[in-house]
Amino acid sequence: MHDVVIIGAGPAGLSAALWCDELGLDTLMLEEREDVGGQLALIHNRIDNYLGLQADNGLQLRELFAAQTRDCEFDLWTNVQIDKVDLKARRIVLRSGEELQSITIIIATGLRRRKLGIPGEDEFTGRGIIESGKRDRDSVAGKDVCVIGGGDAAAENALLLAEVCPTVTMINRSRKLRARREFSEQLHTHHCITVFPESNVRRIIGNDQVEAVEIERTGAIKPFQMAVQGVLIRVGFEPNTDLIRGQLDLDDGGYVRVDSRQETTVENVFAIGDVANPTAPTVAGAVGSGATAAKVIASRLQK
Ligand code: NAP
Repeated sequence: MHDVVIIGAGPAGLSAALWCDELGLDTLMLEEREDVGGQLALIHNRIDNYLGLQADNGLQLRELFAAQTRDCEFDLWTNVQIDKVDLKARRIVLRSGEELQSITIIIATGLRRRKLGIPGEDEFTGRGIIESGKRDRDSVAGKDVCVIGGGDAAAENALLLAEVCPTVTMINRSRKLRARREFSEQLHTHHCITVFPESNVRRIIGNDQVEAVEIERTGAIKPFQMAVQGVLIRVGFEPNTDLIRGQLDLDDGGYVRVDSRQETTVENVFAIGDVANPTAPTVAGAVGSGATAAKVIASRLQK
């Protein structure tokens, strides 16, 4: 019987584990991937807004977090696949068949990039569909590209690609961009960037590599094809709640509902980080919510 099992080793989970360790709780952290750090691996830009330290990218911040927790005494199991979780009973069954029992559970499963679910999306990943405007831009330098999405991430990537691509078309399903004003002003005045509002990409087309996208535009009589050799998709994130759906309250977007103690609607089950933060997902917020959950659990277990 553990005091705490933490599911997910992103910034929120790592912070909770660090605090649980310091507060004397018997803690086990489960991570399905090989490495800790969660979405930090997806941040290719500089991180200058995390108080107390700066990092060239998410991987560097991940290293700092991992180094700080390496000497702790909590157990960390990576490459672990969870088969079932019974939140009320706080029992976890691993795909290996092993069963775990805990007094409390902390869900720190984070978000995943939303997919469009259109033909060509999986097929052309790495063959014209790029992951990052910063990391992969050499592969599309000199080519016509499109960026699908209209939030900060899409805008930031469009601006990065416009430094090396002759044309960048942003394809946004709504009339107005969601990106903050600083970005949208730069997009609208940039000579190589065009924004297509009220437009949806229905297909990504090509042979070996991406050659075009098929676009459906509100008001247009029929879909049309636009030739591009590079595509970057940034249509937001969705919470990883498949394991626990149906056992606790989620909001309309699928995020876990928590109170000010980070406790879910199931007693002694907590949720921290982005999976429970639909409004302002940040590394700083994730780290803070991990500390909150650990302190609440420690005082409840009177450690
Ligand atoms: P986001 O703000 O949620 O924006 C998602 C965009 O994708 C929206 O334009 C949305 O359109 C569109 N979209 C969603 N589902 C779609 C679908 N099925 N088909 C087509 N379009 C779809 O996500 P994000 O840009 O990834 O940003 C996530 C968070 O990180 C935000 O808080 C953002 O501020 C932050 N961020 C900050 C920076 C920065 O400050 N430098 C950089 C990157 C990200 P609708 O508007 O129509 O819903």
